[in-house]
Amino acid sequence: MSEKIKAIVIRSNDRKEKDKNILLFSLEKGKIWATLKGVKGEKAKMKLAQNLFCFGDFVLEDGRSGKIVTGFDVIESFHEISEDIEKYFEAMAVLEVVNAIEFSSESEVAKMFVLTLKTLKSICFEYDRQYYILDKFFIELFKLNGFPLYTDKCSVCGTKSFERMFIDYSTGEIECMACKGFVSEEIPKASYLALKILTNTDFDKLKSVKLADNSEYTLLKILVKNFENRFDKRLKLIGILS
Ligand SMILES: [Zn+2]
Repeated sequence: MSEKIKAIVIRSNDRKEKDKNILLFSLEKGKIWATLKGVKGEKAKMKLAQNLFCFGDFVLEDGRSGKIVTGFDVIESFHEISEDIEKYFEAMAVLEVVNAIEFSSESEVAKMFVLTLKTLKSICFEYDRQYYILDKFFIELFKLNGFPLYTDKCSVCGTKSFERMFIDYSTGEIECMACKGFVSEEIPKASYLALKILTNTDFDKLKSVKLADNSEYTLLKILVKNFENRFDKRLKLIGILS
């Protein structure tokens, strides 16, 4: 039986001889491993399908040891991402996050698929300043999963006039100085402002935004820590955190 899915290649491993194993993140089935046969051969017509970030229509069939890709049409290869080291590290971070999440429903998969595609598109074609898009990706991810981060009031006492704000990593909420819990960290003012601005700016408008120097990177580290606590996963983010 064959099935057709829309998917993004999020991992690509060598297999024996000329084969590759790819992990697809699909709109229809979430994450699914499949084998590309003979794809390392010179004239392999499905060559593009072994590349990370590649988005297309895949036809899968059951083989003796798992799914085999028997058809592929590229929709967007996003090959420009791999030609720019800054874009590459950020797009790899997006794939690492998708890899880390365990989805529990079809609607979660669909929403995350749309966000992933939008983020890769933005990194590929609308990249301007480092980490703005990646910050936006995390902010939207939290929103999708029911724990939006930006708020103008303390989540505990509700005050709107707080001088210093903290993120509580045990809940993923913003708190004031008086209410902050034990596992909280102060969000510096500039990063809090960056969080607010990025929350209220669409991906396609990010180019028109200018944040205070370094506020985006400090914010990114907070967003990553919040992700790790919400999803109980550790992220490496090679080229960004290490
Ligand atoms: Zn409070």
